[in-house]
Amino acid sequence: CAKAQGRNNYKIYDGAMDVNADRRLILTNGLRRALDREEFRLHYQPKVEALSGRVVAMEALVRWEHPELGLVAPGDFIPIAEETGIIIPLGEWVMRRACEQLRLWQQEGITAVRVAVNLSGYQLQYRDFVASVQRILDQVGLPGELLEFEVTETVIMQNPDFAVSILNQLRDLGIHISIDDFGTGYSSLAHLKRFSVNTLKIDKSFVRDVESNSTDAAIASAIISMGNSLNLKVIAEGVETAGQLAFLQERHCDEIQGFLFSKPLPPEEAAILLRRGICTAIEPSRQE
Ligand code: C2E
Ligand code: MG
Ligand code: MG
Ligand code: MG
Repeated sequence: CAKAQGRNNYKIYDGAMDVNADRRLILTNGLRRALDREEFRLHYQPKVEALSGRVVAMEALVRWEHPELGLVAPGDFIPIAEETGIIIPLGEWVMRRACEQLRLWQQEGITAVRVAVNLSGYQLQYRDFVASVQRILDQVGLPGELLEFEVTETVIMQNPDFAVSILNQLRDLGIHISIDDFGTGYSSLAHLKRFSVNTLKIDKSFVRDVESNSTDAAIASAIISMGNSLNLKVIAEGVETAGQLAFLQERHCDEIQGFLFSKPLPPEEAAILLRRGICTAIEPSRQE
């Protein structure tokens, strides 16, 4: 395919050591124009109730359809977008697009499903952030209750007092706040208590071996019981097998997300799933 060929060409001309640097340069230069050229896409992955399979939210995950490289994953360009400041307009585009998409789905009769957007720490620090969120909700005509933000512990702990103040302002708009990749950072319970976070999202690194690794099992169980006793919802990400699902259900994990139910889908396919309203576990062979 063109992607592989392109990579090989760079190897021939520049030597293997420079492949990553070259790819990075291509991405950095392209990123500046990608918004204007409408090269970003959002895929949506359902979050489902652990016991009923009912879809409660759709998480928007950004992809970049690069003209030569094909679909680029967010892990490859979000860090560059952060370094270059492009994360501010890109983050705003993601938020607006996700809200507009949910509005369209609402008009098809899909109600009571939230849309979840991942936030970068740079967005939280941006002076007009809360105002821009408010503006988008107003313009799109979406109640704040149907928007969810996913923020990592690391982002909160970089400047806890500031983060708590912004997150509280977002809570005042009715927005649902989830702590993404929970368990991988160092957030203290003292800070979590200071703002009304709604959900803890157990990082997929603890879910993967939850059946075979007793440490991971203990961490996942501890997060679930802590969430339950603090009156927070707990969701597990990266759930791929029926065994992992059973483990989490038995310990009263509220919600589940992962390839077992669905991979992230383009909007048209996500709409089909939403019309069903319920997710059922799919066999591994049917996932690809
Ligand atoms: P995240 O928010 O923790 O998202 C979970 C990642 O795990 C996604 O990768 C998703 O596709 C993947 N995933 C979901 N289910 C499974 C599973 O069952 N097994 C495995 N192995 N993986 C699963 P993706 O889409 O590549 O996104 C990676 C990260 O990029 C996200 O992690 C998030 O931190 C960031 N990201 C994505 N979209 C945005 C965005 O719009 N803005 C910002 N700031 N960051 C974003
Ligand atoms: Mg997330
Ligand atoms: Mg996550
Ligand atoms: Mg993660």
